[in-house]
Amino acid sequence: MNKNDGSILSVIKNGYCIGCGACTYVNKSLFNVKLNKYGMYSAIIVRKRIDEEIIKEASKICPFSDFSLNEFEISRNNEESLQYDDKIGFYINLYVGHISNLERRIQSSSGGLITWFLSYLLKNRQVDGVIHINPCYTPGTLFKYSISENVNHIRNGSGSHYYPIDLSKILNFLKESSDKKYVIVGLPCFIKSIKLLSLYYPEIRSKIKYHIGLVCGHLKATSFSELICLQCNINPMKVLSMKYRYKFKNRKASQYGLKILYMKKDNLKKKIVGNNSLFGMKWSYGFFKYPACDFCDDVYCECADISFGDAWLSEYEIDCKGTNIIIPRNKEIDDILINASKNKEIEIKNISKLEILKSQAGGIRHKRDGMQYRLYLYKKKLIWAPKKRYEANNEHISIFRRLLYKYRFYISISSNKLYFKSKKRKYPVFYFRIHITGLVIMYNLIFFTDAIVGKIRNFLRR
Ligand SMILES: Cc1cc2nc3c(=O)[nH]c(=O)nc-3n(C[C@H](O)[C@H](O)[C@H](O)COP(=O)(O)OP(=O)(O)OC[C@H]3O[C@@H](n4cnc5c(N)ncnc54)[C@H](O)[C@@H]3O)c2cc1C
Ligand code: SF4
Ligand code: SF4
Repeated sequence: MNKNDGSILSVIKNGYCIGCGACTYVNKSLFNVKLNKYGMYSAIIVRKRIDEEIIKEASKICPFSDFSLNEFEISRNNEESLQYDDKIGFYINLYVGHISNLERRIQSSSGGLITWFLSYLLKNRQVDGVIHINPCYTPGTLFKYSISENVNHIRNGSGSHYYPIDLSKILNFLKESSDKKYVIVGLPCFIKSIKLLSLYYPEIRSKIKYHIGLVCGHLKATSFSELICLQCNINPMKVLSMKYRYKFKNRKASQYGLKILYMKKDNLKKKIVGNNSLFGMKWSYGFFKYPACDFCDDVYCECADISFGDAWLSEYEIDCKGTNIIIPRNKEIDDILINASKNKEIEIKNISKLEILKSQAGGIRHKRDGMQYRLYLYKKKLIWAPKKRYEANNEHISIFRRLLYKYRFYISISSNKLYFKSKKRKYPVFYFRIHITGLVIMYNLIFFTDAIVGKIRNFLRR
């Protein structure tokens, strides 16, 4: 066992752990998951003596180990009615849509269809409980995975929580629980871990009946939420909850706000601020990203039974109420959607594969073209990186795209380190901004040059 053998140990030691907690299910006296100094959950080895058999077993369920199956192998399906696309995965239909109830749609992050779907499964006794993220109202730990057993609790968890989470406590609860059936909501890497666990642990397979996936760009460390609070002159340790996708009337869906609930001198206060007025909110910069996310090639949560994302397409983006893209991956689930649409509980309509791809164009470029280039950079420097479905390459993209991915990579890594340093300063936001701004300016320059060169090239091709 060495640092670069592709096992779970290389994942942990080289910083590619996403903190899902699946390894603690394999052996909780060897693995533990803790928040690290950068505000990300990460596995740690708690014993000095390492048993090789346990490492082998855990390497088969770790989503970033070279010894676990990849997304295609896990989701491979012979159902004849399914179609396959190498970016979307297996699917039976492709839709855009939203819940019909306006109030619930406004409360959600996109079209509210995840909360509707979870409530449907519970009300119709398809499951006994829902494993998803709920607010904790505890300063320092704003969100965690929990089990909702009634519709009010399910609704309380709605929204996109850009906050670190781990599954270890829930998994250990499942180990000891009775034979209840659950549905789980998760980011692609978390759903991948659960599917891998299900392959080797029949009790997980029988207890988790449905897997609901979120489309995913990347996950943020706690620093993301802290920087937002500091910019609003709010002490992060006084914050009880944050809503990251507050919908403003008559604005585009992408021009959302942040709602912060916090304590000030024993009084409960509320602050709502637009995302465009804050530094660090631009997703393409990749501030406070988990390092693992730069080595992830799953955009649409290919291992899920159904995936939901935002319809980032101009005709839907103008609607502040929010709209989902929906990718059902089996017939049973597709039938539920079709019937609910007939009953007018939800509104859905078919869209083309091209539109589904267009809605996540930036994410796909970053996770495919960009990732191949990052693999190339690491290979050149002989740094170990997890085995992916795509090979290291630097010839598939222009020199400007290469520079762009390089600077985005620098920004992500530097933002985590700089924020950690800035916490010890008197004016953390000032320190952070001063030190990261050079990289951001360079990134923007490359971005605009690349866009202009692209336009000229397209013009000359005509
Ligand atoms: C970190 C992150 C990155 C994302 N990146 C993209 C992206 O690049 N492109 C895109 O189109 N969509 C992305 N999404 C998904 C999108 O933001 C919406 O969550 C999705 O469209 C569902 O919307 P909804 O209105 O149906 O969900 P809602 O009805 O509001 O319900 C959301 C459900 O998801 C659960 N949930 C929220 N956050 C998490 C989390 N971190 N882990 C597990 N479960 C969670 C909630 O508990 C709730 O049950 C991302 C979401 C997250 C959390
Ligand atoms: S990614 Fe998950 S399974 Fe792998 S080491 Fe981290 S916590 Fe454990
Ligand atoms: S980008 Fe990939 S690794 Fe990162 S949170 Fe999303 S699914 Fe997980």
